[in-house]
Amino acid sequence: SAMIQFQNVSKCYPGNIVAVQDVSLSISQGEFVFLSGPSGAGKSTLLKMIAAIERPDTGTLTVNGQEIGQLKPAGIPYLRRNLGLILQKQNLLPDRTILANVMLPMLVTGTPKDEADSRARAALEKVDLAHRAEAFSPTLSEGEQQRVAVARAIVNRPQIILADEPTANLDRANANKVIDAITFFQSAGVTCVISTHDEQLFGKADRIVFLNQGKIDHIEQPMNGKQA
Ligand code: ADP
Ligand code: ADP
Repeated sequence: SAMIQFQNVSKCYPGNIVAVQDVSLSISQGEFVFLSGPSGAGKSTLLKMIAAIERPDTGTLTVNGQEIGQLKPAGIPYLRRNLGLILQKQNLLPDRTILANVMLPMLVTGTPKDEADSRARAALEKVDLAHRAEAFSPTLSEGEQQRVAVARAIVNRPQIILADEPTANLDRANANKVIDAITFFQSAGVTCVISTHDEQLFGKADRIVFLNQGKIDHIEQPMNGKQA
């Protein structure tokens, strides 16, 4: 069943800048999809609409059964709780430990401290950073910081992970580690939508959606992909 469904979605920014034009795309629960294409193609705008940061001008977008265009303000926190967001810059708090950074989203949603502590440690284990739990983020490499961001994004058990160019500043080995960390949660049933320019990562996806000037140019399924 579709977790995310775009039907003829278009989106303009002020000044009549067409960001997304007549996009129809259905993403299944548990699917791993890359959005690719040149800068300005509309990748970030698609991700922002899934998170209800932007809304479609026309067409319908349904996320986890909720139509984004119809969402009332009260529905937004509910939607976002089901989304793990990973951005290019991680905004980790530099004066708190890695563990405290990963616990934060759970404390915000009212998880008891003991439970938040153990779930944060479990998440850090999954991204292979349990040994750095007590370190401060500025002492971690960029690749490690990005894996902390993965742990922080999944710790509230979202059904969807959205990531905007999460490997943009990373070398090959670290880019692979970040994507593999995300893939681990995908294998547990989380739907993942990730924008990337990095062709060497494409084989890790179920599908790659190529955008150009706001439209879907074509869709590829990697030969060595998990479904092929
Ligand atoms: P990508 O993520 O593929 O680089 P974006 O979705 O960021 O593409 O941008 C799509 C188009 O919308 C581009 O032409 C971009 O300049 C424009 N755009 C993005 N955000 C805004 C904004 N807040 N205001 C005006 N134009 C924007
Ligand atoms: P625990 O159940 O003790 O939290 P797990 O090893 O099952 O430990 O999970 C590790 C981390 O992965 C936890 O922080 C959990 O919140 C996170 N997680 C996120 N989404 C899922 C999922 N769909 N299935 C399992 N764990 C998930």
